[in-house]
Amino acid sequence: MSDSNYKCIYCNTLKDSIEFSLEHIFPSALGGKVITDNFFKTRNVCRECNNKLGLGADGLFLKNFFIKNSTSMDFLGYIDLENPKYTIPFIYLGLNEHIKHPEYTYCDYWLWQGGGRVYHFHNNYSDKFNAFAGGNPIGQKDKRRAGEAYLVSSTNNLVWIKKLLFSFKEHFKYAKRYSVNINIQNENDLLDVASDKENEIIKNILAIANDEQKNQIVIQLGFEIRFLSKVALALGCNLFGDDYYRSSYAQMLRKVIWEEDHTKLENYQHQMSSFFSDQNNPLKQVSEIIAWKGGHTIVLFPIDNKLLLLLYISGNKNPIILTITDEFNKFNNTLTSEFPNGCVWILIPQRQIFKGKYGFPEYLAYKMGDKSLMEDLSEIENLYVEFENLPPFVI
Ligand SMILES: [Zn+2]
Repeated sequence: MSDSNYKCIYCNTLKDSIEFSLEHIFPSALGGKVITDNFFKTRNVCRECNNKLGLGADGLFLKNFFIKNSTSMDFLGYIDLENPKYTIPFIYLGLNEHIKHPEYTYCDYWLWQGGGRVYHFHNNYSDKFNAFAGGNPIGQKDKRRAGEAYLVSSTNNLVWIKKLLFSFKEHFKYAKRYSVNINIQNENDLLDVASDKENEIIKNILAIANDEQKNQIVIQLGFEIRFLSKVALALGCNLFGDDYYRSSYAQMLRKVIWEEDHTKLENYQHQMSSFFSDQNNPLKQVSEIIAWKGGHTIVLFPIDNKLLLLLYISGNKNPIILTITDEFNKFNNTLTSEFPNGCVWILIPQRQIFKGKYGFPEYLAYKMGDKSLMEDLSEIENLYVEFENLPPFVI
């Protein structure tokens, strides 16, 4: 943004340049760090907003997203079982209130789709942000604050156990890490050694580990709208700068971002369609074709007087739809004039693959069978392993 380099687009406040850094618009849990295209990065968000909204908007979105999407196993098809660098993320399933720890008050319950679960004890709870309260162990560098994480494996296949242990280490990087039921040589500092105190916790976990009833799930509805508005506003500012920022639609998005009372969110005309409803989808007829199996498909699509961003997450056929602007004819940008019929990116975080942008019609032609023009996409397709061809979880 030309005349407001140091104005934060979320809090609308002028701040010193040191308050800003290059930020990913997509959260890292959705593969934001793998995205190289500058279109998905911003320098116009202050550190304070980034921290606040990372918990309040992103965290709540991700929690809801993963709960609703936890049945999809497609992403396992892109896991490289040989390379420990590629891990499978844990999915947050809420607070567990049935296992007590003498030093920690809260216990987050996490699921690993390759076959396993984690009980994470900590004291970092806040009513507002319980999505990632201590539940974002990645951010807790202080060992004591990072708490203790206990891993229960439900696979006995060494191939998956290795992947599980590396994923456990990656996700709970700073916490003390204990295994409840895996007996394996402790290579690469993957696990800590349990003393009597931890063995007592392990005993309690074993007693209830398979009892789904005892794992409470907390869902707060409506908060995804804040996250989607935040993404739409940042992308709109990247594309069209100040003219866009001053538009009434952009200013409305800014209010939505900070609305903490989710019952009030419906009063805004935000034009976002959230989880997997196919309402308002102008690409309904071709959605089956668009979604990339096992990865995320991002489509920037102008229609009528709107500019939309469609997110087909984890190969889901029903996209999340963000309206970046409903006055598209007022703005100009080289990206949208270079791709007047829309453009597409493919993101496969579990393999650290990011591809694009492709013209939308060319991409559709590829997906409908014309493989000649996009060899790089064919290569990605060939990496995919169908579920029935993956090693079994139980042998
Ligand atoms: Zn700010």
